[in-house]
Amino acid sequence: MRDSECQICREYILKKDGTKYIEAAHIKAKKDKGNETLENILLLCPNHHKEFDLGDLNIVFHSKEKIEFTLNENDYEITLLINS
Ligand SMILES: [Zn+2]
Repeated sequence: MRDSECQICREYILKKDGTKYIEAAHIKAKKDKGNETLENILLLCPNHHKEFDLGDLNIVFHSKEKIEFTLNENDYEITLLINS
């Protein structure tokens, strides 16, 4: 995947083979009938993945192109992968 940095903080974990490790977070969880399409996925570092899953998340706006949300009182606006 071309963009393999955290979409919140731009951090990633560099593996010894030189590639980047990043996690795919589902905006809408699979158990809540979220799907595997790019508009439902954020690439996040492990810290932000857990914060997204476990923190106080409030999705303000979510379209095919972007998502706006507050997470533990921080505001984020992220362009989704479908455009990259
Ligand atoms: Zn991050």
